[in-house]
Amino acid sequence: MNKNIRNLRKLISRRAFIFALAILCCFILSACSYFQNSQFDTNGMHNDNLIVHYLDVGQGDSIFIELPNYQTMLIDAGVKGLGEGIKSYINDLGYSKIDYVIATHPHADHIGSMQYIVENMDIGQIYMPDVTTATKTFEKLLIAISEKSMKIKSAESGMSIVNENNLSIDVLGPVNIDEDNLNNCSVVIKIIYKDNSFLFIGDAEKDELSSLNGDLSANVLKVGHHGSNTSTTKKFIEQVDPQIAVISVGKHNEYDHPNKKTIKLLNNFDIEIHRTDEEGTIIISSDGYNITTKTGGQSIAGDE
Ligand SMILES: [Zn+2]
Ligand SMILES: [Zn+2]
Repeated sequence: MNKNIRNLRKLISRRAFIFALAILCCFILSACSYFQNSQFDTNGMHNDNLIVHYLDVGQGDSIFIELPNYQTMLIDAGVKGLGEGIKSYINDLGYSKIDYVIATHPHADHIGSMQYIVENMDIGQIYMPDVTTATKTFEKLLIAISEKSMKIKSAESGMSIVNENNLSIDVLGPVNIDEDNLNNCSVVIKIIYKDNSFLFIGDAEKDELSSLNGDLSANVLKVGHHGSNTSTTKKFIEQVDPQIAVISVGKHNEYDHPNKKTIKLLNNFDIEIHRTDEEGTIIISSDGYNITTKTGGQSIAGDE
């Protein structure tokens, strides 16, 4: 009799456990679909906003920008092998054309997948600094561009890419070309939309940053060179005076980026820090007056 009751109890508790597990699974699944459908679907949410997607491409940079005038811009394309992922991310947002492609400088973690993008997407204009390097990646990119009969525009300080009512995109750097340090040839871009502004500095290091002229202030700064301590200086942070700093960096990278000193400096200035290695793709939108940030967007690099 007792044995029967014990068996019955065991059976009930096992069933209760399975039932609880099933409920938990349902909960996780619905939470996941909420996460995908509502929070990160920027499709059709454009509403004249400026939407900047700091793509999680591991160790490297790739930033896709939906401009308020419904044009698009891609700054860098991460390391090799990510082209398909970057293209489908852009396609999923409803775009087939990139109006402005910027290769900040010819390092493989910035132009690695750009050949694929050039070969497989409709592109308006392509901007690069006036510097060459003898790598296969760079050579193949140049061939892809010339095979499409496209001309590269040399990006240099003082150039304007877009100049419309309420929207301007200006090139602030490079001011000088440093053949010995490609990072210091990085194209520096400032986008101003009404009262808000975004600064993109590629891998520019101290020498280039101290050569920049004009108004460097911006609400959002893409931190230089993956947060290395060769880029972010106190003086530069004072000039930019950002509310938000975004660091594009790979998990467990061999360079120990971002540097602890960079993080400390940004913290000292009470700047909100976002990192692609910790938060995935980071999407920052502006209606010209207010800035909203979403993290945890789709990763292009995968979980390495
Ligand atoms: Zn880099
Ligand atoms: Zn670099």
